[in-house]
Amino acid sequence: MKIITSITEMQTIAQNLKREGNTIAFVPTMGFLHEGHASLLREGRNRGNILILSLFVNPIQFGQNEDLDRYPRDAERDCRTAAECGVDFIFMPEATEMYPQGFQTSINVRELSKPLCGTARPGHFDGVATVVAKLFNIVMPDLAFFGRKDYQQLALIRRMVADLSIPVSVIGMPIIRESDGLAMSSRNAYLSPVERKSALALSRAIHDIRSLYVSGERSIETLRRKALTIILQEPLLQIDYLEFCNEHSLQPLTEATDDTLFALAVKAGTTRLIDNTVLGEKV
Ligand code: AMP
Repeated sequence: MKIITSITEMQTIAQNLKREGNTIAFVPTMGFLHEGHASLLREGRNRGNILILSLFVNPIQFGQNEDLDRYPRDAERDCRTAAECGVDFIFMPEATEMYPQGFQTSINVRELSKPLCGTARPGHFDGVATVVAKLFNIVMPDLAFFGRKDYQQLALIRRMVADLSIPVSVIGMPIIRESDGLAMSSRNAYLSPVERKSALALSRAIHDIRSLYVSGERSIETLRRKALTIILQEPLLQIDYLEFCNEHSLQPLTEATDDTLFALAVKAGTTRLIDNTVLGEKV
């Protein structure tokens, strides 16, 4: 496993690998790896013959009052996890390598970046789209793996890849959860024990809404009320949004169908947590 920090070195390696006919599988992350990231790496290992992981806490996707400075980092542990998952190259640039003086380009996926997390985090998805496009130009992957945990991000990357004709297949992967249901996230490290316990309301809401839907409930009004009740039972939680929308357009709906995305963002103390499910998907 090799660690690369220079953009030109990574590009030269990627170019040579492609010339030799390799299939490059790529997993972009912000590090502090957990089993969710590992599931993407394992799938990448199976489907590509070269596996590249990026570790980069992308400053331009964080807002002014967000957690860029305290985002959890542990490069040594990440390298061990990467080695265990069979990673061939880790791309780990400094922020100044990615965004040198004079950098001024931004990608805006107009409609998909507005609702859900886009409302509370203006500019966030421009930062995400820009860094992912840049990483694609550096790593030149054939396959790129993203978790459905960040559902809006995945939808937006798919749209960007189609709109800009980027030659990469985007593969969406299932949400990996702790044994008690909490969706894995690097930010779970921020949670105090009581916040961690309250945070289970998110996966409980996902579970109960799915059950109601399976039992025939189609009124979004009713489903929303049920989800609200579950979250509001936890005094430590503050709802950012709780939405039912079309899984492709992310536009709000009044009737639930198999294509309905139920997505929620909640704050536990200062920690922002997200979770989601598509009602028709098998989990
Ligand atoms: P992050 O390092 O949080 O930016 O995440 C990097 C990638 O891992 C993204 O594609 C995430 O959607 C994915 N990911 C994060 N948490 C999970 C999870 N619990 N299950 C599946 N994928 C995840």
